[in-house]
Amino acid sequence: MVTEQEVEKTGYGITGDIGGIGRHTYYTPDGRRIRAIPAIRDYVLKDKAGKVIESGTRDANYDKGWLPVMPTEVKPHCDGCDNWHNTQEEVDTCISERSKKAKAWEKWAEKQKKGEAMEQAKETEDLRIKMLEMEGDMHTIMEQNEKLMKMLEAKSEEN
Ligand SMILES: [Zn+2]
Repeated sequence: MVTEQEVEKTGYGITGDIGGIGRHTYYTPDGRRIRAIPAIRDYVLKDKAGKVIESGTRDANYDKGWLPVMPTEVKPHCDGCDNWHNTQEEVDTCISERSKKAKAWEKWAEKQKKGEAMEQAKETEDLRIKMLEMEGDMHTIMEQNEKLMKMLEAKSEEN
């Protein structure tokens, strides 16, 4: 069977028909056969009063969308969401929607980056101006100091 070989080749991380013991046969909605160990989970159903009305085990493998029998109508697998859709059109839409979203996200991230860079440039410029102002102040202080020293010198010469 071609589908079995395909499972062994592509996988989805699931091993092929090896080992056998404890393995169950499942079918994917796209018509592939998978042999896997059941993922048995205990479950308890309680009523509103908290009384247990049902308990047992269930196979969590079915949560993945796997089926106990080969589906009569196969559904295409979607690489976008790693799930199955009813039609190939839905798969295409899902994938293109996803790439659109990814692109929008990239654009947004780029904008954010640009904004941050501009913000940083502005901060650097602000700092530069502050430094120049401080340099100017320092110069003024030095000049004043020099004048003051000269005045003091003149005064001491007078005495
Ligand atoms: Zn999808």
